[in-house]
Amino acid sequence: MIRIAIAGAAGRMGRSLIEACDATPGVTVGAAVERADSPFIGRDLCALAGGNERSVPFLANLAAATGQFDVLVDFTNPSATIANLEVCRAAGKRMVIGTTGLDGAQRAIVDAGSRDIAIVVAPNMSIGVNLCFKLAELAARVVGDDTDIEIVEAHHSQKKDAPSGTALRFGEIIAGALGRDLRACAVYKREGETGPRRPGTIGFESIRAGDIVGDHTVLFASAGERIEITHRASTRATFAAGALRAAQWIMGRERGLFDMQDVLGLR
Ligand code: NAD
Repeated sequence: MIRIAIAGAAGRMGRSLIEACDATPGVTVGAAVERADSPFIGRDLCALAGGNERSVPFLANLAAATGQFDVLVDFTNPSATIANLEVCRAAGKRMVIGTTGLDGAQRAIVDAGSRDIAIVVAPNMSIGVNLCFKLAELAARVVGDDTDIEIVEAHHSQKKDAPSGTALRFGEIIAGALGRDLRACAVYKREGETGPRRPGTIGFESIRAGDIVGDHTVLFASAGERIEITHRASTRATFAAGALRAAQWIMGRERGLFDMQDVLGLR
């Protein structure tokens, strides 16, 4: 039995992860962590997920629970994820990081941590999105230099970061396939007299509305034809299922930094 600790357990993804753990043979929730001022602290997990008393209380301190889990699955926010990483690194615990919006310095900390522990980081744990990453890379290699490339994403109105981590990952993959540096060719905003489209750029558009779980379209447009690669997530369960698959896969790794392409054997 793999014991999973969930950081951000009362959040949208946390709740979906609890349900996924309950429905998946071979995994169990070993610990549930929330922010110190969460109303759930000290209460049992069943206060949230229903069912019988499980003796898994919400904790504010991951360090106090390192004996209760094998893998931490973290869907919180960048600063909480980095704090949790330090705890996992010190305790020799594996990590699956779903949190998006990590900046360059935070990514470097994750990178350094992976010298000691095994970490899967993926801005999108869905199997379909990770297949689309592969398709976008192929499309970029075949038609990319001759096309205008735009990445359009839509998410619910409460999402904190933009563009989505998934959209940025599409951008990195496409830029990498074309030998470009995303930092130099990304266009995040257009307003006013923008003039003609600058060749070689990759544009991003973010829609924030309602309860959209997560849509992404990569558009390759040239004179006479367009290719669109679209993925739509209709439930968070798809991310939770991917995260648990990553948690099971990572039990076979001692250290190193991995993503869902590794987990799914798409490398
Ligand atoms: P959410 O706001 O619903 O949940 C986040 C939870 O983290 C909240 O319950 C919050 O109280 C808790 N939290 C905050 N600080 C904490 C701390 N220090 N310790 C423990 N818990 C803490 O957000 P969400 O929609 O569940 O998304 C969470 C993150 O996951 C975001 O970065 C989002 O972009 C990302 N996400 C990734 C994927 C993926 O597939 N990788 C999918 C969906 C969302």
